[in-house]
Amino acid sequence: MHLIFLGPPACGKGTQSAILVQKYGYYHLSTGDLVRKEVATKSELGCKLKMCIEKGALGASEIVNELLKKDVENHKQMSILFDGYPRKLDQAEFLDSVVELSDGVLKRVFYFDIDADELYKRILGRVTCNDCGAVYNLQTKPPKEEGVCDSCGGCRLTRRGDDNEEILKNRIQSFFEETAPLKDFYLKRGILTVVNARAPVEVVTEQIVNAL
Ligand SMILES: [Zn+2]
Repeated sequence: MHLIFLGPPACGKGTQSAILVQKYGYYHLSTGDLVRKEVATKSELGCKLKMCIEKGALGASEIVNELLKKDVENHKQMSILFDGYPRKLDQAEFLDSVVELSDGVLKRVFYFDIDADELYKRILGRVTCNDCGAVYNLQTKPPKEEGVCDSCGGCRLTRRGDDNEEILKNRIQSFFEETAPLKDFYLKRGILTVVNARAPVEVVTEQIVNAL
């Protein structure tokens, strides 16, 4: 009985994935992790993938599909939580075929509902403690006392603007263009649950657990 988490970066699906893995023993299948692992092994496939990514994605999609298929086969006895995949309609169709081949069932798809403005606010709200490196988010996970680090008591919390911000913004934009339409695809199948991703973490968990 597999699940899919559909949601843009910074929507909180990483946190919810960790909770489901811990509470219910789902196997967390993140295609981002699969790609990073494969590239790190410097295998033939990994090198090809790295080249595709550097050149700008053409061909990468096929290799990602191959990695996904292999990983599903390796974990077909488990309930799988798909995170970061599918991103497009053709991937959703490919996933259907892979799930069917492994005798699995796609039980439910969770769509993390949150708008782009809120996500930008979250990204911009990220601050780091200069003294111990603890990470906070003024929007979603502020320190207990304003401007003071919970871990070390230091008071040099600063926002670190970096390239990452730009990458995240691009990924958010492509989510709304390419991935959000999958909502309809799964809605028509009657397996979509929309969760309010602006709610506090515990409330989001509750919405998910109630629909399992
Ligand atoms: Zn600190």
